[in-house]
Amino acid sequence: MQYRRHDTIAALATAPGTGAVAIVRLSGPAAQPICRAIVGREVRPRYAELCSFRDADGERIDQGLVLFFPAPNSYTGEDVVELHGHGGRTVSDRLLERAFTLGARGAEPGEFTLRAFLNDKLDLLQAEAVADLVASSSASAARAALRSLDGQFSARVAAIQAGLTQLRVKIEAWLDFPEEELAFDAAADCEAELDALLADLAALAAQAQSGATLRDGLTVTIAGPPNAGKSSLLNRLAGYDAAIVTDIPGTTRDPLREHLSLRGLAVSIVDTAGLRESADPVEREGLRRARVEVGRADRVLWVADVREPLAASLAAARAAVAGAPFTLVRNKLDLLESAIAHEPTSSGDTIALHVSALTGEGIDALIAHLHAVAGFTGDAPGTFSARRRHLDALERARGRLAAARAAIGGALELAAEELRLAQAALGELTGELTSDDLLGEIFATFCIGK
Ligand code: GDP
Repeated sequence: MQYRRHDTIAALATAPGTGAVAIVRLSGPAAQPICRAIVGREVRPRYAELCSFRDADGERIDQGLVLFFPAPNSYTGEDVVELHGHGGRTVSDRLLERAFTLGARGAEPGEFTLRAFLNDKLDLLQAEAVADLVASSSASAARAALRSLDGQFSARVAAIQAGLTQLRVKIEAWLDFPEEELAFDAAADCEAELDALLADLAALAAQAQSGATLRDGLTVTIAGPPNAGKSSLLNRLAGYDAAIVTDIPGTTRDPLREHLSLRGLAVSIVDTAGLRESADPVEREGLRRARVEVGRADRVLWVADVREPLAASLAAARAAVAGAPFTLVRNKLDLLESAIAHEPTSSGDTIALHVSALTGEGIDALIAHLHAVAGFTGDAPGTFSARRRHLDALERARGRLAAARAAIGGALELAAEELRLAQAALGELTGELTSDDLLGEIFATFCIGK
């Protein structure tokens, strides 16, 4: 990504291919002269005007609407022109070629939004929300992205930043005037303020977690011994026959990936081959891939026959998942003669659920469990979109605040430094303190023309 901001960029803003309308967008100091050259006259700012678009020889390329947004009141904060022509590649390619001849260059992915960010039209959280809105796969994810775009996430971060600034001012003053003894109640005051900030941060992190799950969903891998009912469970969750179910062990040799919406939670779910040693090279390859999927999962559902003793299932699961977080799903509940407690049983950090993939019993509880694991609260009012990057920064800020809280009774310098670092971590969210590399990474995932 280049950060040249004084040239003029151009790109197709609509999806390539055939459509009713194609929009070529220009941003930068030459946008207006380029527009003038193409339409042959000045256009009024903020009016839609019907014009002919012409090439260098005056031949008509198309006719369509022109919109001109002078700086700074435009998406990018620069002069922006939009040429709305007829859809299809030919017209828009010719318009773009003409713009390039007149001095524009092709925009990089996300470069319009990058310019909006660099010109303080949006902060980084809002810029990312633009991409999330474009990519949203559900109405709730779109609503959450729109809330971030409105600045709801940014406002929460700003409130915590303001609290931190106040606290730092107080502590720095004490450090500057050590002869004025730190009054006992003043220290208690600071501790109370810090506790309140820690609580705000925890609440914000929980909401961000929910927003990140809404955006990214949960990756789940179904594993377990052959014939335990893994494929049947996937089919039950999917609500249709996605996997091949047979009673011949080893039918699933290739991990099968499905994208499901489990009551609003997007789940990417992988059914693996039965984890067992085999001499068959195809089955061994399936096994290798299954292990890769286990390592990648946010959660492994280890499916075992409920008639197998709990301790044996748990031991097999622990050995196979090698430290990955897992839930034991004891299947074929319908085959059990005596009714057993269907409540989830936990042993340490392991949870065991009882289901029947055949009858559907226990599946609701399993879905509720996945919601809980993901920290998913659905489309709760106020859920805003968030990314893993945001969760990391919030967690780092929380760690700094906790360290400041521990230091505030004695080592004031240390507390002050931790508060400064907490602010820096929060600054990465909005982009006040973000490296060019990270910016490049974020904007490179945008589409061209956005
Ligand atoms: P996988 O090898 O673990 O994928 O197991 P499958 O899903 O192919 O199931 C193996 C066999 O167990 C099939 O005959 C299924 O019909 C049967 N099965 C799976 N789940 C249940 C269940 O909940 N109850 C009963 N009674 N049979 C089941």
